[in-house]
Amino acid sequence: MAKVLCVLYDDPTGGYPTVYARDDLPRIDRYPDGQSAPTPLGADFTPGHLLGSVSGELGLRAFLESRGHTLVVTSDKDGEGSVFDRELPDADIVISQPFWPAYLTAERLAAAKNLKLAVTAGIGSDHVDLDAAIEHGVAVAEVTYSNSISVAEHVVMSILALVRNYLPSHRIANEGGWNIADCVERSYDVEGMHVGTVAAGRIGLAVLRRLAPFDVKLHYTDRHRLPADVEAELGLVFHESTAQMVPHCDVVTINAPLHPETQGLFNSDLLATMKRGAYLINTARARIVDQDAVRQALESGQLAGYAGDVWYPQPAPADHPWRTMPHHGMTPHISGSSLSAQARYAAGTREILEAWFDGKPIREEYLIVSAGALAGTGAHSYAVNDTPAKS
Ligand code: NDP
Repeated sequence: MAKVLCVLYDDPTGGYPTVYARDDLPRIDRYPDGQSAPTPLGADFTPGHLLGSVSGELGLRAFLESRGHTLVVTSDKDGEGSVFDRELPDADIVISQPFWPAYLTAERLAAAKNLKLAVTAGIGSDHVDLDAAIEHGVAVAEVTYSNSISVAEHVVMSILALVRNYLPSHRIANEGGWNIADCVERSYDVEGMHVGTVAAGRIGLAVLRRLAPFDVKLHYTDRHRLPADVEAELGLVFHESTAQMVPHCDVVTINAPLHPETQGLFNSDLLATMKRGAYLINTARARIVDQDAVRQALESGQLAGYAGDVWYPQPAPADHPWRTMPHHGMTPHISGSSLSAQARYAAGTREILEAWFDGKPIREEYLIVSAGALAGTGAHSYAVNDTPAKS
């Protein structure tokens, strides 16, 4: 029987919800590339309920306990003597989420003598030291595509919010004000702007597709070109590199993974080549940008706005410099954890566990590490000897 150690974010400060804003969720059976949404044999949760916090337990308790397994759920993951560190040595399976990552470092993996499987309830396993996972024979899986569209929607929202100066105008309304000029002195239309994405994978392409109806001019860079018919359909301009693309753009959105090639990519030199007053949106990973260079670019006016939901470290300390920089539209790491996304990644986590316990293969597209090597999506997206990255 297995011990499953699950690290989730805290419940709402007002307590676990008893009512929800809506009664149902749209049913999504397939993702845009044809991949089916998770298909677990069963589900013990109500789609649309809060599953990603401690009391939500990803809807896993009844399933695991009915099979004789033990489930330990905690949000206490960092610092000396955390519950996570105390429970890890005899855990067989660890489940964590990028929004509240339980960093599986080489030291922790060495201490986790029983560990056989690390599941990311969501997408992005860069909180796991994959080299060490391979060395210790730990399999790694994530719920590929479960929240890609959720993130793409957040990107589009952020672009509109920054360009239209929505957040300061909303604040003025809340505070009883009505100075129209205060609201509009930084407000523009997105129409006609040049918008570029660094990477056009699942999220980047979804952003491009959602922006096309806004009559913007779309640009992208990626390691591989999209099919010619997609480029033609969306009127995309391809650039060989980020450096070649950004000087043409009014808005840049980052949708590439964090790895040595992208770490620190948006430094002060690159930011200086952007159009004055460009907007930068980063929902990928915080360390793709230089934290201080972004703040300075906002203060100098080189950037007109910065938004996203990824910080370093996470959770961000109360005095993190991005909390107080001008013209930002940051949120905590939430874009991929809408209630809609939670229903999918909870179902996907259950599907992975069912396969694992039944000795059946985990879907290829969910695999990051298997049988001592990168596998499936992991073989495509990650490389061994990448610097272990904390999102
Ligand atoms: P995909 O794997 O579908 O796409 C990533 C794309 O980035 C691929 O096309 C890849 O090319 C390309 N790429 C890799 N390196 C570079 C580079 N140096 N320059 C340009 N392109 C590059 O990933 P997703 O779209 O699903 O996710 C993207 C990232 O978003 C994730 O890695 C994760 O960090 C982040 N994310 C954030 C979430 C959030 O909640 N904020 C949730 C989910 C993901 P190639 O195929 O050739 O490798």
